[in-house]
Amino acid sequence: MNIPQKYIGRFAPSPSGPLHFGSLVAALASYLDARAHGGAWLMRIEDVDEARCKSEYADDILRTLTAFGLNWDGVVMVQSQRKTAYEQALARLSKVSLTYACTCSRKEIADSALGIEGPIYPGTCRTLAMANKNNAIRVLTNDELIRFTDRAQGQGRGEISQRIESDIGDFVIKRRDGLFAYQLAVVVDDAAQGVTHVVRGADLLDSTARQIYLQQLLGFIMPQYLHVPTVTNDAGQKLSKQTLAPGIGAADAVTVIEAALRFLGQASTGANASVAGMLAAAVKNWQVSAIPGVRASAIA
Ligand code: GLU
Ligand code: ZN
Repeated sequence: MNIPQKYIGRFAPSPSGPLHFGSLVAALASYLDARAHGGAWLMRIEDVDEARCKSEYADDILRTLTAFGLNWDGVVMVQSQRKTAYEQALARLSKVSLTYACTCSRKEIADSALGIEGPIYPGTCRTLAMANKNNAIRVLTNDELIRFTDRAQGQGRGEISQRIESDIGDFVIKRRDGLFAYQLAVVVDDAAQGVTHVVRGADLLDSTARQIYLQQLLGFIMPQYLHVPTVTNDAGQKLSKQTLAPGIGAADAVTVIEAALRFLGQASTGANASVAGMLAAAVKNWQVSAIPGVRASAIA
């Protein structure tokens, strides 16, 4: 029987700084795509990296989203409260011998061949069977091609593929300091929230294969993916806290939403409308095919 799947989308900001234009673009895209499908739009605070995240930033992000009329459904999921779920997922992988402890330092891995995201982990600790305690935990990978179709990216908006073992290597799912890695947390949480459609910045395009691999190992359903271009500044750097991207305020909501729609290739809704009016029009006009299929782009 074919049960029609309800659309469940989400926005998953990391509270390492206030909301900036780049994160607003991702928020808006996921919101519009969810609402245009008559779907739910859930919220998740991705504060697994406790050293980099602050609850003040989380509050600030949620306040800004509300001021921008981006109202989410249900309760906010918070990753720092989800350790038991991550621990269970890790235990499931360990039980079938898909994980191992790694004692390699950054320096020891640094001379390995370069992959798509820095040095490829060469599997040094794979067969050493060291104790998990106080060590990083990696997941065993293989070279099977992981393929997925992105709704905006990929040459000609087609298939994207990656061989994890040779492009990335066995990757860390729990860090030496005991914190879980983003890749594991995001997969466990997307499954727990029943997310069917992931819409986010294209800086995460290269992470998607790793997430699909973990979904496969854990028996989770693969959502559909839409990666929108990340916003760069004039120097071509991704807007982030590190590049000192200015925060955005409620006072400029109309102008900022208009600029974000333009960035996403969407029709103008007329900047004179109210925020609510603009969003309603943008939902109606939402066109995924108009989103530039590039990884990054400067503010228009
Ligand atoms: N927390 C991630 C970020 O802010 C987004 C993760 C995701 O959307 O999968 O970059
Ligand atoms: Zn190692």
